Amino acid sequence: MEDKVLGLKCRECERKYPKEPLHVCEFCFGPLEVDYNYEAIRKSISRESIERGPASLWRYVDLLPIDGEPADGLHSGFTPLIRAKNLEAALGVQELYIKDDSVCHPTLSFKDRVVSVALSKAKEFGFDTVSCASTGNLANSVAANAAIANLNCFIFIPADLEIGKVIASLVYNPTVIGITGTYDDVNRLCSEIAGLYPWAFANINLRPFYAEGSKTFCYEIIEQLGWEAPDHIIVPAAGGSLVTKVGKALKEFHLMGLIDAPATKIHVAQAEGCGPIVNTLKENSDFVKPVRPNTIAKSLAIGNPADGIYAVATVRDSGGDGEHATDAEIVEAMKLLASTEGIFTETAGGVTLAVTKKLIERGRIDRADRIVVGITGNGLKTVEALTERVPEPHIIQPQLNAFRKLMTTL
Ligand SMILES: *Cc1c(COP(=O)(O)O)cnc(C)c1O
Repeated sequence: MEDKVLGLKCRECERKYPKEPLHVCEFCFGPLEVDYNYEAIRKSISRESIERGPASLWRYVDLLPIDGEPADGLHSGFTPLIRAKNLEAALGVQELYIKDDSVCHPTLSFKDRVVSVALSKAKEFGFDTVSCASTGNLANSVAANAAIANLNCFIFIPADLEIGKVIASLVYNPTVIGITGTYDDVNRLCSEIAGLYPWAFANINLRPFYAEGSKTFCYEIIEQLGWEAPDHIIVPAAGGSLVTKVGKALKEFHLMGLIDAPATKIHVAQAEGCGPIVNTLKENSDFVKPVRPNTIAKSLAIGNPADGIYAVATVRDSGGDGEHATDAEIVEAMKLLASTEGIFTETAGGVTLAVTKKLIERGRIDRADRIVVGITGNGLKTVEALTERVPEPHIIQPQLNAFRKLMTTL
């Protein structure tokens, strides 16, 4: 096949750049994006070629920006798509699926998708050190995958993250640096560091490559539905990359002749305490106004989202919508998903399900439609969100009598 990746291209002025660790256009400061040779890819890709591929996100390698064999993420992706019958009954809808990215990935969140691509690319570029600015899940994934790929690793996080997410980075033995500030402070500092140190920052200088990994979340949904796009996909947003790439994935599969023209509405979920993308949609504005985050959904607590305006455009173009979830609604939705489908998601999943419920109640999602809810992270990493919000266990002496007595009170 001819080269599938032509280089990079500015999303604003379309100026072209070579395939290098660059992320901003020097002329208009627009973000750079991978520029594919779709004509060449179309000749070699088919449903059958994908189905013959590995049971990982690399089955879509033809539409991912690496040149050689993947060096990372061999066990990431191809997570379950679950028909959620109990949840359908609870929500009063006819056909609802959970795309469950909280399991099967090495670090139990959808970030293993983006990191698989970013670190494979970092190796191709010859970097020996990788890094990231993270709200937690990205840190876990970069740290774990750096260990696998034998790369040095520096992790930058807000100092007040959930302990589960801090330990789930430290265990892989990277250098972890907690910053006394918000994610947006961490990100600003990292952008300065990226200009001075020859490191591959997954979500800064490698961002154009990193972001492409998100597309596989949606490719899998389509393939798992028997090569059909659903009527609705609901996903959470932090920096807005996943939402944007769900839109791109739908377009690419159609462009490659793999599916009919999709009519999927893409909906975005954010917390009320940090919802700059949803605010823009609700206010019908063209700007994403930064906010100061205050929410238990820390993985989504990005007040100044890098892809905010593109996420807004993706949702609008698809005919989708956005909603906020309060902290109480997030917890309630986490419990609903657990008690109906046996899935323990983190706060971000609570945001997504709470927002799905609202969009159904508002009539923005028709009860007869085919709905896919994106669950992107695992609840064991954010247990403190449920502390004092679930009942205490019953404590008894190890005696049958004690148990019998307890039974009379239940
Ligand atoms: C990072 C993250 C997202 C969304 O990320 P974007 O920056 O919007 O691509 C969603 N869910 C979880 C659990 C995450 O960690």
